[in-house]
Amino acid sequence: MSETPAFHVDTILVSAGRPAHVPGGPVNPPVVLSSTYIPDAAVNYARVGNPTWDAFEAAIGELEGGRALVHASGMGAIAAALALVPPGGTIVAPDTTYNGTVLLLEDFEKAGGTVRRRHATDTEGFVADLAGADLVWLESPTNPLMDVMDLPAVLDAARSQGVLSVVDNTLPTPLGCRPLSLGADVVVHSATKYIAGHSDVLLGVTVVASDERGSELGTRLHRHRTLHGAIAGPMEVYLGLRGLRTLGVRYERACASAAELAARLEGHPALERVRYPGSGAMLSIDVAGDADAAERVCAATRVWLHSTSLGGVESQLERRRRQPAEPATVPPNLVRLSVGIEHVEDLWTDLDRALRTVL
Ligand SMILES: *Cc1c(COP(=O)(O)O)cnc(C)c1O
Repeated sequence: MSETPAFHVDTILVSAGRPAHVPGGPVNPPVVLSSTYIPDAAVNYARVGNPTWDAFEAAIGELEGGRALVHASGMGAIAAALALVPPGGTIVAPDTTYNGTVLLLEDFEKAGGTVRRRHATDTEGFVADLAGADLVWLESPTNPLMDVMDLPAVLDAARSQGVLSVVDNTLPTPLGCRPLSLGADVVVHSATKYIAGHSDVLLGVTVVASDERGSELGTRLHRHRTLHGAIAGPMEVYLGLRGLRTLGVRYERACASAAELAARLEGHPALERVRYPGSGAMLSIDVAGDADAAERVCAATRVWLHSTSLGGVESQLERRRRQPAEPATVPPNLVRLSVGIEHVEDLWTDLDRALRTVL
């Protein structure tokens, strides 16, 4: 038997999770709408498993280099990952991270747990805080400040101290970063964003390594999903897999346009600051002036959609402090841009015109 060749990631995106190639077989996984199954197999109820999930999970697992579980939303995945910490335990986290995570960490503190917060780029601080901690939460670049963390350094230190590590890999996607290969224990995604890619479903994913430690964590995450019931509908998961098929071309286009826009925005008279992490499809801009000026920019675009969320084919922008839960570390005049796949010249013209309305 010859070894299975290692395919390029673009090929995995298109081919992973397909049904077996048999005469007359479908090329896509069926959407299995059944709450229960005939007994005497591993799965006999659909809160525990579903064949449509299996296809999606196989594809994400292959991309991240581990074993994936699909959840009802990114927050469903994040809640399952945070539940790996014992009550009253200690979590190390960035002071600015996705705002749903911020709120869950606050709840964890209210329930008697400890959270040690550091600025995302304070690598030494993160490493020092690992002593005696149960879990370290990582996100890079951070949403929406676009700070880049030193993942290899923190993950190395966490591993050597036996601290569980979780990476929210939503922004880089599996194409930009594969945290398991850097030593992370758990990867989470809001698959609502780039993976599904069309702003039409909510989905989340957790991924663990395929080794013994990963398998123990995977069992606990699966138990959380099953017993808390935050499970995804089969149709949503099918759409997630369908979206994943084009992630390669979508992300390539979006990243190229983001780099071009970041370069053109640098020094723009209507901006105080451009926050571009150097790669990826997101950037944030601090509009010169107050929150009101930033709001006026958001209201003035025609191509860019003024909406929360990110990672869709359509470009979106939002003044993040509109969200009541957004940490005060985010400036009130910061507008987050999620670059989609429209023509870059149209994106530029629209944004530049909207920015000039506040000059
Ligand atoms: C959107 C988002 C989440 C939450 O995902 P939902 O699918 O909305 O529940 C988590 N982390 C990041 C970085 C996100 O952008």
